[in-house]
Amino acid sequence: MPSSGHRLRDVEHHPLLSENDSCDPAASSPAEADAADRVWFIRDGCGMVCAVLTWLLVAYADFVVTFVMLLPSRDFWYSVVNGVVFNCLAVLALSSHLRTMLTDPGAVPKGNATKEYMESLQLKPGEVIYKCPKCCCIKPERAHHCSICKRCIRKMDHHCPWVNNCVGEKNQRFFVLFTMYIALASVHALVLCGLQFIACVRGQWTECSDFSPPVTVILLIFLCLEGLLFFTFTAVMFGTQIHSICNDETEIERLKSEKPTWERRLRWEGMKSVFGGPPSLLWMNPFVGFRFRRLQTRPRKGAPEFSV
Ligand SMILES: [Zn+2]
Ligand SMILES: [Zn+2]
Repeated sequence: MPSSGHRLRDVEHHPLLSENDSCDPAASSPAEADAADRVWFIRDGCGMVCAVLTWLLVAYADFVVTFVMLLPSRDFWYSVVNGVVFNCLAVLALSSHLRTMLTDPGAVPKGNATKEYMESLQLKPGEVIYKCPKCCCIKPERAHHCSICKRCIRKMDHHCPWVNNCVGEKNQRFFVLFTMYIALASVHALVLCGLQFIACVRGQWTECSDFSPPVTVILLIFLCLEGLLFFTFTAVMFGTQIHSICNDETEIERLKSEKPTWERRLRWEGMKSVFGGPPSLLWMNPFVGFRFRRLQTRPRKGAPEFSV
């Protein structure tokens, strides 16, 4: 037991650890203070493939909507209005995707479980603090270790390969917007597909598209399947996220049936804490708080992320 009077436990409630065991001092970042100024990117092969695939699927949907359905249409305003709406949804969805992927989800500084740091916390005698044995940090309440990010993440909800990042305290709002905009774009694409099929069946297949009828049918069927799949996945995820936020409970806490030791912020209070401030249209804006940053790589050995 540490001599400072408080107890230090690791996250899994294993036997008590001392301050200095197994912590690699090199693992701690010398510049954690400026980590908040950096955009975070996880170098995980599976996550990067899934993220690129997401962009390609959105690009495919945009191509079919624009070049197969809207541009060949004889109704000018139908094409303009639907083109603007769909492309706005696609841009908002991809922007939300980027913000989710490149925002630090709430990483706890690595290797801060040092004697000096714990003394600076001025803990009361008998107070129990938790230490992560994997990244050697003092684990705040509600933080969990992510084996892909190799960090403890505050209010970690889950690690999502489709956005190649953890969903946590600081990027959950962007993840919610991503699921919402993809669900809306999917519904829009499905409606346009339905209208296109009706128009082609009623008229001439050779006239309803610039592509040959077999190619048009294949492109539309693939878009329908993609729209159905994306809509189902993102609508369920959106509903789950809103439910979690309104109950102030992360997915991990729900799965582990953790009894809340924190003061719960329910319904609108939960939404305000995630989206920041009272309800407004800014909640829908994935660009909020965005600023350009200097490209800056952090070639630290063993570190999974680089910064932008
Ligand atoms: Zn950890
Ligand atoms: Zn993660």
